[in-house]
Amino acid sequence: MSVLETVKDVLRASTESADRGEGSGAASKGAYWCDDCGERIPDADVEGDDPPACPSCGETMRFERSPSSTGCAC
Ligand SMILES: [Zn+2]
Repeated sequence: MSVLETVKDVLRASTESADRGEGSGAASKGAYWCDDCGERIPDADVEGDDPPACPSCGETMRFERSPSSTGCAC
């Protein structure tokens, strides 16, 4: 009984902390990447929906969702 209660508390605590983390992260849904240079620009720093150009090579950057914000990709 006490063990089960402890597990519930831990699950609830981790869920709450995760929600709080996403809430403080502005509108960061992911980031734009340049595969060649390894450059990364957070989505929140890019205005509009168009992918920005890489500051190093000028190639159009690739959008990638933040893996931490999506629990399951199924
Ligand atoms: Zn680049």
